[in-house]
Amino acid sequence: MLPRRPLLLSLPFLAIGAAARGQGGAVPAVASFSILGDMLRQVAGDRVAPRVIAGPDADAHGFQPRPSDSVALRDAALTVRNGLGFDPWFDRLLRSAAPANAVRVTATDGIEPITMEGHHHHHHGGGAERRTQHSTGPRRVPDPHAWQDLRHAQTYARNIARGLAAADAAMAERHLAAGEAYAARLARLDAWVRERIAPVPPERRRVITSHDAFGYFGAAYGVEFLAPQGISTQAEATPQQVASLIRQIRAQSITAVFVEQATSPATLERLAREAGVAVRGRLYADSLSRADGPAPTFEAMVRHNVGLMVPAMLGRAPS
Ligand code: ZN
Repeated sequence: MLPRRPLLLSLPFLAIGAAARGQGGAVPAVASFSILGDMLRQVAGDRVAPRVIAGPDADAHGFQPRPSDSVALRDAALTVRNGLGFDPWFDRLLRSAAPANAVRVTATDGIEPITMEGHHHHHHGGGAERRTQHSTGPRRVPDPHAWQDLRHAQTYARNIARGLAAADAAMAERHLAAGEAYAARLARLDAWVRERIAPVPPERRRVITSHDAFGYFGAAYGVEFLAPQGISTQAEATPQQVASLIRQIRAQSITAVFVEQATSPATLERLAREAGVAVRGRLYADSLSRADGPAPTFEAMVRHNVGLMVPAMLGRAPS
């Protein structure tokens, strides 16, 4: 298919890349999950036609790709994954379906991961594997949820911009500049988060949520997160873990208790009931909401989460 002439005439700079692709210049790009898809969109604007495999409201842990997801990868010029063991199912898709010359971005490249005690955190199989992991006991694993620290999110923005510049060389300077502009916005958001959390007294800075997705957030912004589940939504909380959390909620008068989008709320709701505290809402940990929800972009997600957490930590009604 030939590129449409009027577009190329008005934007001669696009001509080479667009002619190679024949799609009006949009770079076919595939991101493993919704947060990366949004970051890609923020950097590239209408220069990408992004596909997201684990979409809004989907649980990216242990995601099961469909056959149509391989089809999406066939024409990809750029792929973006999180890495650190978060999206191994995407690696398998890449191996089977992505063109050899596609530019592959690992958004966490260059980030020193924090580690945490945990069982193998992304189960591809069923209960047998899980039991095996439990029998070997806890071990240190890298925490994959690095986007929750907005300094790391800036690294994501730059890694994505560099990949985009490589996949769309005609617009390389534009993409690198857009990556810097987005990183600057994330730096301002980082300052906003610190400002919002600053008034919370240290002994009130405790949040209970479904799974250990906020380790980076906690380390960056000085909040302690406690979760009955480990760093995967696929792990199960033991009755002992739940009972010990209930004791801690009572002993420390913890008021910030949340369920998570894309994670079953059952354990958390039972835990809150038994501890006699209210669930304060729904945090977005590993996925965005749909466009009409409260977290349609990564930046909106951070504002939504912090907007719920701060009054809840203070024991106040939501503002
Ligand atoms: Zn997670």
